[in-house]
Amino acid sequence: MSKQENSPAALPDEVVQELDAIAQSATHAIDEAQDASALEAARVLTLGMKGSVTRLFERIPTLDKSLRRAFGQRANALRAQIEAHHAARKSALEREALERELSGPKIDVTLPGRRAALGHRHPVSRTLDDIAAIFLKLGFDIAEGPEVELDDYNFEALNIPADHPARDMQDTFWIAPQSLGADEAALAGKTAILRTHTSPVQIRTMLSQPPPVRIIAPGKVYRCDSDVTHTPMFHQVEGLLVDRGVTFAELKGTLDAFVQALFGSATRTRFRPSYFPFTEPSAEIDISCVHCGGAGCRICKQTGWLEILGAGMVHPNVFRAVNYDPGEVSGFAFGLGVERIAMLRYGVDDLRSFFENDARFLEQF
Ligand SMILES: [Zn+2]
Repeated sequence: MSKQENSPAALPDEVVQELDAIAQSATHAIDEAQDASALEAARVLTLGMKGSVTRLFERIPTLDKSLRRAFGQRANALRAQIEAHHAARKSALEREALERELSGPKIDVTLPGRRAALGHRHPVSRTLDDIAAIFLKLGFDIAEGPEVELDDYNFEALNIPADHPARDMQDTFWIAPQSLGADEAALAGKTAILRTHTSPVQIRTMLSQPPPVRIIAPGKVYRCDSDVTHTPMFHQVEGLLVDRGVTFAELKGTLDAFVQALFGSATRTRFRPSYFPFTEPSAEIDISCVHCGGAGCRICKQTGWLEILGAGMVHPNVFRAVNYDPGEVSGFAFGLGVERIAMLRYGVDDLRSFFENDARFLEQF
């Protein structure tokens, strides 16, 4: 350190010694550091906010006035010295690290390459595709519609007016109608939702063409619901067949052919009376348990049957809503949950696991 000949007053020896000791231990701490994080720790201990060097400056106001200038000059010089020492140590460590890296093990070009893991289709997508393939073979076309849907198509035209209790079964996400993208005037007085089922695609299809109609409508639907058998988004496949003289027997035949193609030719169906606002009569369709063949097991809760579908003959009010004449045509509609089918096929007992994006789960399929 330079001598302080010009100081107004010489610092007492013990202060000089103390400053020297602080400089020495700070230098030592920096020299000891063998890597960047140890060096940073040493910097904090010396030059940091509460470091030994920084704290020297807090002492200045407590000193005798005659000593302040000399002490301040010394402290400044000390800090500059430690900062320079720290910078030198830092670049030395960086150089060492770089040299280590360059002289480290070379790339072994004889090692086999790492293959990028190939993904595969999601079990829900695969199930959806398999379902669609069966109906395509049966002569159905695929129809699609928007996921943000008008209340009119999702409920009203399906014989579910605003005060209908069936709406309570479908906890609905409501949407600002502007998100439909149509112009303001066309949306006046309209209500938009995330579709709660794929059934509005029936309405859109019938509005856009005269009968006959033979479609399935696969896609995402949304309800405010989440537990082991419900997620806020899930997939449905809706089916609709309209023509002259369509009967319930054709509904049964179509669904029998479908479940046998999907679950095997030994699969039996059972129709139970049910209620849907848009079909009359309506039925829930069970299949013989795919795990025990009907003998009774944990999956079918010992009943031998699994519920997989809802269906029925299209309600005359639905035909009226799309300007079809219920006296001229008849038809059937059905709907099924794709995740429910995927759970049965793959033995999954928590529906939510399909959407948690855990690769360990998805790799199993
Ligand atoms: Zn069973």
